[in-house]
Amino acid sequence: MIRLLIEKEIYEYDLYAYASSFFPEKELKPVIGEDIAAVNDSIVYREDDASIFLGFYGGEELLSDASFEKKKEEEDAEELKFVRRLFIYECFADYTKKKLPWGALTGVRPAKLVTKLLDEDTAPELIPGILNEKYCVSQEKSELALSIARTEKEILMPFKDRNVCSIYIGIPFCPSTCLYCSFTSYPVKAFENRLDAYLEALAKELKALPEFLNGSTPCTVYVGGGTPTALDVGRLSILLDNIRDAVDINGLSEFTVEAGRPDSLDLKKLSVLKEAGVGRISVNPQTFKEETLKLIGRRHSAADVERAFYEAREAGFDNINMDMILGLPGESVYDIQKSFEEVKRYAPDSLTAHALSIKRASRMKKWVAEHGAVSGIDAYAAMEAAYEAAEFLSMKPYYIYRQKTQAGALENTGFAKEGKYGFYNIFTMEESQSIIALGAGTVSKRVYKDGSGRIERCDTHKDVDLYIRDIDAMIDRKRLLFEE
Ligand code: SF4
Repeated sequence: MIRLLIEKEIYEYDLYAYASSFFPEKELKPVIGEDIAAVNDSIVYREDDASIFLGFYGGEELLSDASFEKKKEEEDAEELKFVRRLFIYECFADYTKKKLPWGALTGVRPAKLVTKLLDEDTAPELIPGILNEKYCVSQEKSELALSIARTEKEILMPFKDRNVCSIYIGIPFCPSTCLYCSFTSYPVKAFENRLDAYLEALAKELKALPEFLNGSTPCTVYVGGGTPTALDVGRLSILLDNIRDAVDINGLSEFTVEAGRPDSLDLKKLSVLKEAGVGRISVNPQTFKEETLKLIGRRHSAADVERAFYEAREAGFDNINMDMILGLPGESVYDIQKSFEEVKRYAPDSLTAHALSIKRASRMKKWVAEHGAVSGIDAYAAMEAAYEAAEFLSMKPYYIYRQKTQAGALENTGFAKEGKYGFYNIFTMEESQSIIALGAGTVSKRVYKDGSGRIERCDTHKDVDLYIRDIDAMIDRKRLLFEE
């Protein structure tokens, strides 16, 4: 365990982000306070108006330290944030003699940064050099970010001059809770007596939708969660009817339902989705190794994936995504390669490869504390298996995003065949349009179209009972966010 001794809470995010990337196998314990003394293994961070100090201690012995004197131009808050991150990154890189593929870049949206540079008319060939020089991003990742940003621009071209928005609908219920889950998700059986009330509250939000549009037209609807198909077929039909009453489905460019868990699917539900106009779904194996599926609490087998996937094809779906996770407990690179061989056999239309991220809110955090580090796999080799499968299936990478504490400090990558791109995924990464989010534990985002780049957000209660009880207040929050 490493203690992170930090004088002020405001610096915790940056220090934790780098410490978890450089020491993924260690448990980190942030300790905040003015009176911090280095004991046992610890990293000490101090900052005042004039300087920054960072020291690495083994026991009580100072093993390595560095300090930084602030200059006048760093009085600018944004500039100081940038300088601080670079300083912390370089301290960790010097101490560990390691470099991270994304360097000092901690944000979740590397392609958005590149899009900004492209919009400022920066010559594309200069961009990898800028990312490398300014943020220590590797050549390979700089080129990836550039290529993704250009692909995204091309895909979004038809939306460029249109005043469009996306609708997100959260159904926070799943058949069981996966070990690594950090989403708003509750076991559907335990909430059986509240499902009708939840759908009624959601219907109320959907009725109020025209008040949130503020002149824009919905171009995508994404029903996620949770696993919307965890609802029984009757409730699923009610949900879809309510969506169709509120949104002109024929005017959409994309209608996605996160079908996700194969153990939530059958031919009847899939046909109901198809008949309601849903065009894109996910059937997510995460891995094809039975032992791992049991360990991570998915409660389905590889055979369930096969059944659900072919039933989805039978129901008429020609746009099916598969999610896979790299770095699950006990899995070797060979296991991951074998799973991607299976993906190739199914030939989905798009594929998302996630480098495992152990979130503080997940059960996995506790699991790791009890069982030790998850896996020491070569995350690069694992990611290569994903790229190889995607190439085999004639897919190309079209969006990426990063999370803290990801295996190998890598990224999540979405691949798709031509014409099967998930628009909503790009909209959320690029933050180029507003997202109206309905349901418990969701966050709406208003993107101002006045050229200021201003973005404002409002959330809803995560707790289902509170969401149902306070539904009128939840609607009022959104009215306020989206008012003229
Ligand atoms: S299916 Fe997704 S939302 Fe549901 S428990 Fe698993 S990770 Fe969480």
